[in-house]
Amino acid sequence: MARPRAVRDRARTVARRLARLYPGDAASLCALDHAGPYQLLAATILSAQCTDARVNLVTPELFARYPRVEDLAAADPGAIEQIVRSTGFYRAKTTSLIGMARGVVERFGSVVPEALEDLVTLPGVGRKTANVVRSVAFGLPGLPVDTHVGRIARRLGLTAEQDPVKVEADLCALLPPERWGAFSIELILLGRQVCAARRPRCGACPLADICPSATPSDQRAPDQRAPGQPVLDPILRASRRGAGPPSSDGRDQPRPGVPR
Ligand code: SF4
Repeated sequence: MARPRAVRDRARTVARRLARLYPGDAASLCALDHAGPYQLLAATILSAQCTDARVNLVTPELFARYPRVEDLAAADPGAIEQIVRSTGFYRAKTTSLIGMARGVVERFGSVVPEALEDLVTLPGVGRKTANVVRSVAFGLPGLPVDTHVGRIARRLGLTAEQDPVKVEADLCALLPPERWGAFSIELILLGRQVCAARRPRCGACPLADICPSATPSDQRAPDQRAPGQPVLDPILRASRRGAGPPSSDGRDQPRPGVPR
């Protein structure tokens, strides 16, 4: 179904402003340390219910001991559990990691597949994780939808859906494919730093003047602020410092974990 022009225009304005606020593509905005699709896939599996910062503490040892996907496929589960224990749900994650690696080795010739339909057949890999890998590791179109992305898209009137798959479809229809991956991370950052689930800071939001959910007193555009009123700059500085880095799964930090 065709989207109202006003929604399309709002989506483009949102995308333009967020790109200015959080410059970079999906690969440069991703907070999970990795080298290549195999490592990103493993790190993203570990990021479920865990912060990216915590994942980044355990993956150096994991990748040093299991540098190739074939090594992880043949790993002893007990050894993996010891390494990833601090990320939470370590038994299930160990099962997913080894299962994912075996799937890549046995069904895809030890090469992480690019196709969404192939990625989601791997243990521990859902649509969100698959889209992270596509957009960050391969530079392909992919728009991961986590709790931040869904919530903010609804607040901005870009979707009315609750189902992440339908939210993804709505957002993908509004933006060019080359913006999908970075746009997802930009919304996650905004969700962490400004548009929190319980108490959105509309007065500090660069989208307040076009957001249907902004509180009336907060609908001034950034360039309409009173002289000296801090809005964009502190947010930008915080993002460039790495404060509240975008967790691939999208949970607020600090927390016992984040979302995939
Ligand atoms: S104006 Fe408020 S509700 Fe709208 S995106 Fe910004 S923080 Fe969220």
